[in-house]
Amino acid sequence: MRPAVVSSIVCALGVLVATGCAHVVGLDALARSSAPAIGLGSWTRDRSLPDRTELAVGQLVIHADFPLAGQHRLVRELDDLRAEVSQRLGLPVSDEPVHLYLFEDADRYTAFAARQFPGFPARRAFFVETDTTLAVFAAWQDRVAEDLRHETTHGYVHSVAPAVPLWLDEGLAEFFELPRHEAGVHRAHVAHLAGRTLEGTWRPDLARLESLASAGELSQDHYAEAWCWVHWLLCTTPERRRLLQDYLADVRRDGKTPPLSARLMRAPDTPPDLAATLTTHLSSLAAAGQP
Ligand SMILES: [Zn+2]
Repeated sequence: MRPAVVSSIVCALGVLVATGCAHVVGLDALARSSAPAIGLGSWTRDRSLPDRTELAVGQLVIHADFPLAGQHRLVRELDDLRAEVSQRLGLPVSDEPVHLYLFEDADRYTAFAARQFPGFPARRAFFVETDTTLAVFAAWQDRVAEDLRHETTHGYVHSVAPAVPLWLDEGLAEFFELPRHEAGVHRAHVAHLAGRTLEGTWRPDLARLESLASAGELSQDHYAEAWCWVHWLLCTTPERRRLLQDYLADVRRDGKTPPLSARLMRAPDTPPDLAATLTTHLSSLAAAGQP
């Protein structure tokens, strides 16, 4: 069930602000807790909304203003992502549609976004959740595959776990936005965090991530760290993956369930120094990526 009132721009992807992050810092100031009046809903009647092609593929309803085949590689990939997200996270699949609105012309997309979401900086893609709809808007450009994998992940996750915490929501989207051959290793984030660690200007802190309430507070460090925790949880031991799955199951039942860090602290195989553990994990990924 969707919560009775949820109207927010949950995520938006845009221009690079620095190596390794496709999110724009400050963009999500409108997000989640603070977006009561940004015209959500009126976009459904906007005449420039893409309608030349409509494809129903699994949970996705794709609206494009250009010819797009259902067998297009990216369409198949986005459909496959539904099962991958479900299986990795132990989440059920939902039949709730996730609408993807794809604009061939970047100027038309930008004009649409500016008209329907005034005050909201135009970006390459964004995800909107209302009390009745899950929708992604994107321009069909060079990085559309990565953008759509990211935003569609938000759609799949929110269709079954709308109360997923902000940091985890973004960490999961960063994890699943990668092409499959990258195996979840976000090289740009690894390089960014490794550099910050070398500088001595960053140290992992899961509780700090969990305290972030608005996407507007998320920096490039936060997106990269969120991805790193997700990678550590999903890709190191079966017990950690199970812990994340159990946590998500509890979030589905009760959005106010205690944070993941509290659960980690109670887990028998959790190392005493979590921050050092994540730094070591990051170092091993960085070393593995060296030529
Ligand atoms: Zn996102």
